[in-house]
Amino acid sequence: MKKRFIAGAVCPACQKQDTLRWWKENDIEIVECVECQHTDRRVPQSVEQSEHLAKDKKQQVIGIFKPE
Ligand SMILES: [Zn+2]
Repeated sequence: MKKRFIAGAVCPACQKQDTLRWWKENDIEIVECVECQHTDRRVPQSVEQSEHLAKDKKQQVIGIFKPE
C-alpha cells in the first residue's frame, strides 16, 4: 500500500509537523502519525455526505418540535 506524507500537516495529537502520512484502504482514507501512532480514518465522501444530510434532517425535526 502506497503511503504518502502530507506536507505541512500538523498532528492533532502530538502537534508535530510533517509526521502525518496517509493511504487508502478499502476506499477509506487512513491518516497515521509516525511520531505518536495517532490514526484517523476518513470514510468515503458519499458516506460523509449522507451523514451530514441525516444530521441536517435531525436538526430540522428538533427545530419543528422544539417547544417555545
Ligand atoms: Zn502525532
